[in-house]
Amino acid sequence: MSSGSFEITVKDAMGRIGKLQTPHGVVETPAVMPVINSRLNTVPSSEMRKYGAEMLMTNSYIIYRDEEMKGKALSGGVHNLLGWDGALMTDSGSYQLSVYGGIEVTNSEIVEFQEKIGSDIAVALDIPTPPYAEYGRAKSDLEETIIRLKEARDQTDMMLAGTVQGSTHPDLREFSARETARIGFELYPIGAVVPLMESYRYRDLVDVIVASKKALPPCSPVHLFGAGHPMLLPLAVMLGCDLFDSAAYALYARDNRYITADGTYHLKNLKYLPCSCPVCLSYTPEELMQSEGRLKLLSEHNLYVTFEEVRRIKQAIREGNLVELVERRCTSHPSLVEGFRRAVDNRGIIEAYDPISKGTFFYSSPLSAMRPEVERYHGRLGRMQLSGKVLVATRKSHIKGWRGEYDHVMLVRPPFGPYPLELKETYPIGQSEVPYTVDNEGITSALNGVLRLVTIEANTNVEFTFKYDGRFDGHPLIEEIRCHVRNIESA
Ligand SMILES: [Zn+2]
Repeated sequence: MSSGSFEITVKDAMGRIGKLQTPHGVVETPAVMPVINSRLNTVPSSEMRKYGAEMLMTNSYIIYRDEEMKGKALSGGVHNLLGWDGALMTDSGSYQLSVYGGIEVTNSEIVEFQEKIGSDIAVALDIPTPPYAEYGRAKSDLEETIIRLKEARDQTDMMLAGTVQGSTHPDLREFSARETARIGFELYPIGAVVPLMESYRYRDLVDVIVASKKALPPCSPVHLFGAGHPMLLPLAVMLGCDLFDSAAYALYARDNRYITADGTYHLKNLKYLPCSCPVCLSYTPEELMQSEGRLKLLSEHNLYVTFEEVRRIKQAIREGNLVELVERRCTSHPSLVEGFRRAVDNRGIIEAYDPISKGTFFYSSPLSAMRPEVERYHGRLGRMQLSGKVLVATRKSHIKGWRGEYDHVMLVRPPFGPYPLELKETYPIGQSEVPYTVDNEGITSALNGVLRLVTIEANTNVEFTFKYDGRFDGHPLIEEIRCHVRNIESA
């Protein structure tokens, strides 16, 4: 593999496990890059491998602005400066630009500096337009960003990241992604999304990711800039993001915030530590609160849980049940539920990426009824042509003794809907685990499947009989189905 190449080895939904070749070795994705503040160094870079980090990120502008560090980085390289011999990405100072409105370096200078100090992946000085910016401003910022990206690309052959901007305007994000891809980069960050994450606007975040992914090359790595909280990682990976960076582990620790995969706690509100990392096994919350090493210890815990989640995500991708993990994680916060719903609204794009053969489908919450597998199955139902007399039944007891009377017999399985008995072993029907007393969303989805089948134009002359049990009693869709079938009965 040559530097900059990216090889995808396993896929699930839009998520994938990949190998990114850098001048300092191969990084397996999805990967979180802990952000090293070269001035503070809360957890030394040399310890980062212990938690699972394969790649780090640091801000080249902070180094550039500090005469002493700048000198060391120029003479001995940025790897030496940080005490890290693995893959390293540098940021350009765009963040400072977004916070302070201006910085004392040009795009060309900071790209050249990143190359001179031996960064593995450099970032151009793009303009990070905040979410909800006025359209005209977002567009003119973006035009300037594209000029700078071209300038950076012309200037160097090193691995470069071309950041996608465009604020929360989906058409600008898509345009930005297309133009950036046309210029050609080794990595595509999606930028200026931190305010969306800080304000729990996951629905809008999903829109930004989806719009960007639509126009980015499907086989290139994508970095969700500023994202590193484990709570969000499964959803972002499901949507096709491969790299993340976390300053959160240290920033949160500074405020005594304790990260978990389900959300964040304030240390003073914890009576117990719900984690088995070395820190949490050695301290009570009270002891941790009073410890002099609190900042580092809490940062360490935050890193342990972040990388634990990364490994869990990778295993889920291998097993083909990433969507189940996302669903579980997203039930931990109403805004994540919104994000999940938004993601599955885009089932079309997920479908296009999703390989067919998968692990077991577990029905675990009302969100399960919205999963891409269900949508795909309903699509298949819409093409199922039948003839003669057809029995559709929700219980096996309904079909006992009746099979000979019909040309086709189908059973209904929430949330999918009707399936021919011959398909009972195939995915997803055959590999699904669904509780018998399923929730209203599961029932609704199953009835939508029935409705889909009985309203196909090619099935107009089919004589449908629909037998359903008490779980479906009183559902409004029953009345709609009644209009399209010959016989219907509750039994
Ligand atoms: Zn812990």
